[in-house]
Amino acid sequence: MDTVKKSKEKRKKQLGMDYGTASGRLRKMLMFNFAVDAGHKCYRCGEDLKLTDFSVEHKVPWLNSESPVKLFFDINNIAYSHQSCNSAHNTGGGLLKTPEEKRQVKKDWERRWREEHGHPRNSGWRQRQKEGKAVRDV
Ligand SMILES: [Zn+2]
Repeated sequence: MDTVKKSKEKRKKQLGMDYGTASGRLRKMLMFNFAVDAGHKCYRCGEDLKLTDFSVEHKVPWLNSESPVKLFFDINNIAYSHQSCNSAHNTGGGLLKTPEEKRQVKKDWERRWREEHGHPRNSGWRQRQKEGKAVRDV
């Protein structure tokens, strides 16, 4: 085993998790602490921020904007919010302007859902397969 892989294994063993997972978690905790110390509340609902339901988002969506890079890195465009409030906004489209943007967000969500759960058509197919099998077994 090469040394890089060895040290990776060692870190994983001692942390009890992947190093990437651990450092990601640490970064999130740091950002959460900074946000709370600076007196930030949820950008969406105004309640106290929670580490277990914490997200960093862009106030003005950078994607498909006139200046994506500028908006993406603009510190003043960053807001802290509950993950749940952020998600609710993204599916409901509270601040989204056009039906076109809403459709795009919905599409993105459906795609993400399919990546995690498989295509809805597949689960239906599996269900029918099961039912078909049950009939044959009788
Ligand atoms: Zn909230």
